[in-house]
Amino acid sequence: MKETKKFYVTTSIAYVNAPPHIGYAMELLQADVLARYHRLLGEEVFFLTGTDEHGKKIAEAAAKAGMETQTYVDSVSAQFGVLCRKLEIKYDNFIRTTSKEHRAYVQHVWKHMEERGDIYKAMYEGRYCIGCEAFLREAEMDNGVCHIHKKETQAVHEENYFFRFSKYAAQIEQAIREDTIRILPEFRKKEILNYFSDEGIKDFSVSRPKESVGWGIPVPGDESQIIYVWIDALMNYLSGIDLEESKMTNIWPADVHVIGKDIMRFHTMMLPAFLKSLDYKFPRSIAIHGFILAEGQKMSKSLGNVIDPIAVIAEHGVEPVRYYLLREIPSDGDGDFSFARFKERYTADLQNGLGNLISRVSVLGVGNSEAVKDITVSGIKVREQDIYKEYVSAIDAFQLHRALEHVWVLVEQSNKIVEETRLWELAAHDIQKANEVFAKLALTFASIAYMLAPFLPETAEKIAVAIGTDIAALSGDSDIPVRFQKPATSLFPKLL
Ligand SMILES: [Zn+2]
Repeated sequence: MKETKKFYVTTSIAYVNAPPHIGYAMELLQADVLARYHRLLGEEVFFLTGTDEHGKKIAEAAAKAGMETQTYVDSVSAQFGVLCRKLEIKYDNFIRTTSKEHRAYVQHVWKHMEERGDIYKAMYEGRYCIGCEAFLREAEMDNGVCHIHKKETQAVHEENYFFRFSKYAAQIEQAIREDTIRILPEFRKKEILNYFSDEGIKDFSVSRPKESVGWGIPVPGDESQIIYVWIDALMNYLSGIDLEESKMTNIWPADVHVIGKDIMRFHTMMLPAFLKSLDYKFPRSIAIHGFILAEGQKMSKSLGNVIDPIAVIAEHGVEPVRYYLLREIPSDGDGDFSFARFKERYTADLQNGLGNLISRVSVLGVGNSEAVKDITVSGIKVREQDIYKEYVSAIDAFQLHRALEHVWVLVEQSNKIVEETRLWELAAHDIQKANEVFAKLALTFASIAYMLAPFLPETAEKIAVAIGTDIAALSGDSDIPVRFQKPATSLFPKLL
């Protein structure tokens, strides 16, 4: 019997010091596409997302909002839950780091690391950025000002617990070099290997005094110290799957952690080290996306140009938003959210490209039941095509935008076939010839539907239904007779 493959994918957990923005929506979508794609292949998929709810920045945001910290994190975390529903994110668990289970788990792993001799107490002197929730290295500051946050860091002199990173650095570096931990996109690998310089491989602090953090998980056996945000946050990938280790071994290691480029240092250095200390395998890959600008500018509260993904979905519908974020923004680089570009993409690709194709052919097909009576499609036929193989390599390389480009090659080819054969005339005068064209188009529709399913699940299902099948059937191997039973005429109505 064939063993079912498993696929474990995560997003980073969203920091709840502010409501969701469009960049996090993109990250959720990228992970959702990977999860849906692997589900279609019949794999056992676990998709974890959630919210990161501890740290000084959050306590400060709550105070500013005039709320109790827990009430505040409950309300912001709920907004991320709403975003997931609006985006049609099909996750398996939503982890919250303030949950009782997660807090207990973090204390449990802390004790393990400590027993192993990987955690020790020492005096810390350095510069801390609240924005990063991290101690910065010289290379990350200009005269004490954080490169990312453009804010003065704080001079810190205090007693902290340290993690013995130096013990694991060499084997992590080797794992990255040899792709045991595969870094996607490839060009980030070099950047990450540069972290493993002399300064980079020093032990780092994993706790802070209670009075300077306040809101967090206490160090077991030392209430005066709070477990520093990254050990807490990163352990969600373990606490979120199952708390019983016996079950967890089936699902670990994670196959892909989808994260933003701002937190890649923590995921490629700290996370693997914590895992080694706990005798867990390294994650198989880390997929790193870039940032989204708004109309060419960095989004910021002060500029008032932060794009609220929930508002955009309310106005334009979920699938056009999924399409834009997955096609226009390269998965592995930076991109721009522009409403003019959004409308261009919508009109050219969705309305005139895909929508028009499905509409014309399905209308002709329904009017000519004779024309399609001996045609079948199947998932096997779809998956043996070269274009499907190219689509698969794009997904495996975390180039989801390229995978969609392949789908649109099919859309354009099909529209061309309809034009060049003047299918609407053939269907009226030459059923036999029309039948040949319908046969070709039916297989292409099956391919478009199947390949589109992880990206635009509703549209994909409608296309499959238009040729008398559904996505579940297409993911199997059997021959399916084509029946144009209902015209799909308004997949993407004209924008007002
Ligand atoms: Zn910073």
